[in-house]
Amino acid sequence: MGRLFCVIPCYNEQEVLPTTSSLLRDKLHALIEQNKISSDSRIVFVNDGSRDATWEIIKALHDEDEIFQGINLSKNMGHQNALLAGLMTAKDLCDAAISLDADLQDDINAIDEMIDKFNEGCDVVYGVRSARKTDTFFKRTTAEGFYKLMDKLGAKTVYNHADYRLMSRRALLGLAEFGEVNLFLRGIVPMVGYKSDVVYYERAERFAGESKYPLKKMLSFAVEGITSLSTKPIKMITGLGFFIFIVSIAVLIYSLVRYFTGNTIQGWTTTVISVWAIGGLMMISLGVIGEYIGKIYLETKNRPRFIIESYLGDEKDQK
Ligand code: UDP
Ligand code: MG
Repeated sequence: MGRLFCVIPCYNEQEVLPTTSSLLRDKLHALIEQNKISSDSRIVFVNDGSRDATWEIIKALHDEDEIFQGINLSKNMGHQNALLAGLMTAKDLCDAAISLDADLQDDINAIDEMIDKFNEGCDVVYGVRSARKTDTFFKRTTAEGFYKLMDKLGAKTVYNHADYRLMSRRALLGLAEFGEVNLFLRGIVPMVGYKSDVVYYERAERFAGESKYPLKKMLSFAVEGITSLSTKPIKMITGLGFFIFIVSIAVLIYSLVRYFTGNTIQGWTTTVISVWAIGGLMMISLGVIGEYIGKIYLETKNRPRFIIESYLGDEKDQK
């Protein structure tokens, strides 16, 4: 492994930055010492429009030691976009980049193993939480429910993996091909392909400051994840339509029986049949229209249709 970049999005993180920066610097120095990474490896802080002294701290760190770099976003763009800004800056400079949170909830000692896996030929190494002992019961159940729901709804992600991962330079270049605006990195990274592996670590508690992901943000993050990765909800409408249509046939038989046994008031039979049949048909039509909208949606994302890993061609054609 050559040059490693650690990319850290920061939003109002003045309480944690001094500790985080010194712990990470020590970590990188140790890795450089062991010849695991080159000495021009860097730590990049991305200031995501913080309203506190975060950027001032980053500037001071950069002035003090060139191992620290800073990217200042024009306003708060959200965690995923801040992360992407850092990774896209790193992709042209590094051999591999690791993304992690400013609060060091992700154990930085897992970096060693990530680098080992990289050296064994993995392009993506996912950090996976082995336990959630330190998370509150509420956070744990909501988060785990979220992963399961995502999976059911067709958004394939790595279970219990947040955004702590190593990506090789060519995996980052692959990621850059994805032009989507609705960004859900942990769903897109697996789509880039290449060999990948996981590294387990225990998630710690945030040591200072407070979570920037309150329930409201978590819910919208979940909706974002599902709607940006999957068109399964549309298919569910079609399914529901067919179900209701079948129910309508049952209702048809039932009401005809009632009609012929003379147990009904005038007009009941036709009304009941048409309500169910029309309802079902409308639901199916909505589903069909939805299928096309789903297609348009995927087209507009303009995703790469393939990423070539290697090409065995004629030697004379290779530049
Ligand atoms: N973050 C960000 N922009 C935002 C919200 C959060 O860059 O709008 C960063 C934040 O500084 C931290 C990371 O995203 O480095 C994860 O946030 P946090 O630790 O608050 O989330 P939690 O661990 O509670 O899910
Ligand atoms: Mg956190």
